[in-house]
Amino acid sequence: MLALVTEPGRGGTARIAQVPDPPGDRGFVRLRALEVGVCGTDREIVAGHFGVAPRGRDTLVLGHELLAEVIADDHGFRRGDLVAATVRRSCRRCAACDAGSPDACLSGAYTERGITALDGFASELVSERPEQGHEGRMDAYERLLGDAVAGDATLFARQDVVEAAWAIVDPVIHGPSPMYDYAPGSWGPAEADALVADVGGWNTPQ
Ligand SMILES: [Zn+2]
Ligand SMILES: [Zn+2]
Repeated sequence: MLALVTEPGRGGTARIAQVPDPPGDRGFVRLRALEVGVCGTDREIVAGHFGVAPRGRDTLVLGHELLAEVIADDHGFRRGDLVAATVRRSCRRCAACDAGSPDACLSGAYTERGITALDGFASELVSERPEQGHEGRMDAYERLLGDAVAGDATLFARQDVVEAAWAIVDPVIHGPSPMYDYAPGSWGPAEADALVADVGGWNTPQ
């Protein structure tokens, strides 16, 4: 099948390529991708700043924001069901993951489809473990895409808001200002003192 792949760490390598079909055994639900979102994370991965290929490979299939259609009745899903899958796969051993908040994972030992060590969804066919769609709670992207399907834009940022935010963030990310190390738990690098020297220095909390 065809998929959108890139080589993490190497900018400019994103391309459409032939890849093996996803696993088709009984443990998976087979999906056809209808829509795959592209966000700032994808921009960073494609630029070579972010992302991890699956073990033993150079390429990663992109795409972590999925709207898909189930292509065969299985595991309680019916052909034609619209589904979204979770992105981050919990470490299952830290307090945050135990509490059902894998996005706040404390161990960092998680994988993420299309980002960290798992292929993403930007491919003709997708297969997914059934429990990644209905654990009794909605993943952030399930909520967002479900709302979109239902016509509710409340949680979406408008295009002009996104562009205004990038106008501020982009020069910071790619700007030429120097970086200074400082100790964790400290009040920051000594170089920061120079910023307020003219006005009498920082007001340190008592
Ligand atoms: Zn994203
Ligand atoms: Zn965790």
